[in-house]
Amino acid sequence: MDTPRKKYIIANWKMNFTTGEASLYLDKLSKRIQPSRKVQVVLAPSTISLQPLSLQVNRRQFKLAAQNFYWREYGAYTGEVALSQIRGFVDYAIVGHSERRYVFNESEEDIAQKVAAAIRSNITPILCIGETALERKDGETAAAISNQLTSGLHEVSKEDISKVIIAYEPVWAISSNKNAKPAEPIDIIEAERLIRKHIAKLYGKDIAEEISILYGGSVNKDTAAGYLEIDGIDGLLIGSASLIADQFCAILEIAKGVKNERQY
Ligand code: PEP
Repeated sequence: MDTPRKKYIIANWKMNFTTGEASLYLDKLSKRIQPSRKVQVVLAPSTISLQPLSLQVNRRQFKLAAQNFYWREYGAYTGEVALSQIRGFVDYAIVGHSERRYVFNESEEDIAQKVAAAIRSNITPILCIGETALERKDGETAAAISNQLTSGLHEVSKEDISKVIIAYEPVWAISSNKNAKPAEPIDIIEAERLIRKHIAKLYGKDIAEEISILYGGSVNKDTAAGYLEIDGIDGLLIGSASLIADQFCAILEIAKGVKNERQY
């Protein structure tokens, strides 16, 4: 019998919460959220909080994700954290987030190496891609998406590609509540199709159908349903709204209730 595809709801807490605050917040969420087979909830706290939260978290309820790491195994890389130092705490890792690309000038090569390193460590990479406002204005959305996929995945073999999750996060829509229109479903439908088409070109049609694609960009409890109902969108990556328990729990309820047409 076909089973509905699992939805992912990923909370990117970014550089917010001390470890004490993160622990209290996790406690609050764990009292309000029931484990669900339909929805995988993943929390991405700051690196400093990963170890204590990994001891506190019920992994049937939530998984943890790294917001960042360095892809080399060890060595003279001041300020960096290797996967070998956080393996065991996390099941997922965000890679190629636009804040890493554009604030910290992370290169395409580093992103590709991070995706490959995560796979080698049995950690699921969540590869973030998406066009900037300028690329969108210049009609270069499709090229930006294809280029980021080609380069971000260039170390990933056909055997391993099913271990990757793609998050489509148009840069102009991230943290844009105040200064940009939210993404319209049509923007996301087009991007989701482009992503699957490009994955099909790189790895074949079946893999393109199977790969999970999430959407992220200023999603809140009022807009979540519209995005989750899009056929081919397998979940959400949420920044600001994930820091507010009422918002985040409401989004999770919506995700549990959404009718998902897509089957395995
Ligand atoms: C993000 O950082 O991935 C994100 C989607 O943030 P926000 O929801 O705040 O736009």
